[in-house]
Amino acid sequence: MASSSPRPPLVAVPFLDLVTPHQQLENELLDVLRRALVRAAFVGGSEVEEFEREFAAFAGADGCVGVNSGTDALRFAYQALGTRPGDEVVTVSHTFIATTESITQAGGVPRFVDVNDATLTMDPAAVEAAITPRTVGIVPVHLYGQPCDMDPLLAIARRHGLWIVEDAAQAHGARYRDRPVGTMGAMAAWSFYPGKNLGSCGEGGAVTGNDSTQLGVVRQLREHGQSRKYYHDIEGYNGRLHAIQAGFLRVKLPHLNGWNEGRRRAAALYRQALADIPEIRLPVEADYSYHVWHLFVIRAERRDRLQAHLTARGIGTGLHYPLPLHLQAAYQNLGLGPGSLPATERAVGEILSLPMFPGLTEDQVGAVAEGIRDFYSGS
Ligand SMILES: *Cc1c(COP(=O)(O)O)cnc(C)c1O
Repeated sequence: MASSSPRPPLVAVPFLDLVTPHQQLENELLDVLRRALVRAAFVGGSEVEEFEREFAAFAGADGCVGVNSGTDALRFAYQALGTRPGDEVVTVSHTFIATTESITQAGGVPRFVDVNDATLTMDPAAVEAAITPRTVGIVPVHLYGQPCDMDPLLAIARRHGLWIVEDAAQAHGARYRDRPVGTMGAMAAWSFYPGKNLGSCGEGGAVTGNDSTQLGVVRQLREHGQSRKYYHDIEGYNGRLHAIQAGFLRVKLPHLNGWNEGRRRAAALYRQALADIPEIRLPVEADYSYHVWHLFVIRAERRDRLQAHLTARGIGTGLHYPLPLHLQAAYQNLGLGPGSLPATERAVGEILSLPMFPGLTEDQVGAVAEGIRDFYSGS
């Protein structure tokens, strides 16, 4: 009666599970909605102020200004630091366009530099080489949840009198040599887009920093440039954080460190399960990093076919990001053609983001690993 051993059913693995954490917190989240309906304070107000205090404490900053997105957080930070038309801001091409469209919106010009091949974050030597008399600032992006190598960047900034704005949209809770990300530059910008390590149930963002004058300008910019109601010192924007989102964020913030630990557990499981596949390279956690694994990004031979193979098995994956900014149609005016940023251009053809979220189970990691192994063994 020997039957061939049945193949276990394939385990579908979503790229991201945004359902379970909200179900687990459903009652507290619904309380936020009820509270908002009773208070009828929907934009700004005490819920936002409470969140700002709590997030500043979490981030190790003196102050926090809640805004309506990470993109506006970046723009307001650049503007509060005095960016003027034609000012150059050095940042990476291997990031989401929000990092740089906000530079342009603030009047500046992005200067793209290459990444370190091992970490895929800003290469300090490339930054040094990109500085011109028009350079005013540097924007390190703590990509995928891994801090940039900040000490050399801070030294360059000091030597040339430049500011640093940390793009911390993917790195809530990460640390660089025991310093929390967001505390090393003049200001930091955060996103609370739903899929981030700390996400609202809509749009949201924040600026943190230690200079109350600069944070005051951010506060004005988010609210039509007013210092008090209907008195406008400057023109600003409609850039406020909604009270309901602030309330949701207050429910979630106490869970963030635990969720980050869950991501680190999942990353460790991947590391074991994928260790012996020669066709892929695993992401590194630099010795200076406490990585919070917003994304787990491998580098793979025959990447597109591997991705299609995983998709067919019900395994969600992503590309972060498929086309570097300097080669996007939107940035052809900067005149950087193919070949100008070799490490970035090599990486984008190989990167593949695997499923990553705090509750990822050992079985799910096993299913992803089996899918990858299966592809390369040609079965
Ligand atoms: C998400 C993200 C942003 C922008 O945040 P939004 O809240 O979506 O506007 C900026 N930079 C990086 C690196 C991001 O991942």
